[in-house]
Amino acid sequence: MPMASSSLGRLTVITGPSGVGKGTLVSRLLERHPEIWLSISATTRSPRSGETDGVHYVFLTRSDFEQQIEAGGFLEWAEFAGNLYGTPRRPVEDRLQAGRPVLLEIELEGARQVRQSFPSAFQLFIEPPSLAVLEQRIRGRGTDSEEAIARRLARAHTELAAVREFDASLVNDDLESALAALETHMGVAAPATAKPEATRAPGK
Ligand code: ADP
Ligand code: 5GP
Repeated sequence: MPMASSSLGRLTVITGPSGVGKGTLVSRLLERHPEIWLSISATTRSPRSGETDGVHYVFLTRSDFEQQIEAGGFLEWAEFAGNLYGTPRRPVEDRLQAGRPVLLEIELEGARQVRQSFPSAFQLFIEPPSLAVLEQRIRGRGTDSEEAIARRLARAHTELAAVREFDASLVNDDLESALAALETHMGVAAPATAKPEATRAPGK
């Protein structure tokens, strides 16, 4: 018997141009809300320094990735800046069935596929304050070759033009403010912090 939809976890898709700060925002969000489960994507791109197989991505050869496509193993997949990226289907479906909130951090074509297969998913777009700041962030990250930077910036124009397809968007300018906006959109309250002195009762 199918499960009642109210017991299924909520699926959220986060999209935005490379370098906008998706990874930074998502890792801060997960530190504060460990109940949210982030899907680990598969990719054919090479690991960046500091990236671990099975943690940041599952790194596959192109032929292994293509076999997974044939076997229907991806919920969605797309080519981005010369590499293939995809969301393994089974782990996502298992977590949703178990009632966990699930997060996908994927590019535009994948978000469009999820819109077809999971119309009830919440789709959020992250915008940079400007294209100049986006370029500074990609360069500041120091992980991409000039060719990769050029491809990512070219692709950013297409992605930014699609912002209106999304249920909501936020600008990642000040990180703390963007994180708070992300929490609001995801319907998770910010963790409680110590009350400021001024709000304490007198004498305490
Ligand atoms: P993405 O995952 O979207 O490709 P990253 O999370 O890798 O982007 O961020 C790209 C760079 O921008 C990183 O060096 C990160 O530290 C920096 N960054 C992210 N958010 C902000 C922000 N709000 N203000 C300044 N720098 C930021
Ligand atoms: P990066 O190479 O910078 O880690 O990721 C490049 C782009 O691929 C980013 O926009 C990221 O959101 C996207 N991406 C990561 N995993 C997936 C995935 O599983 N599917 C799709 N469609 N895009 C992904």
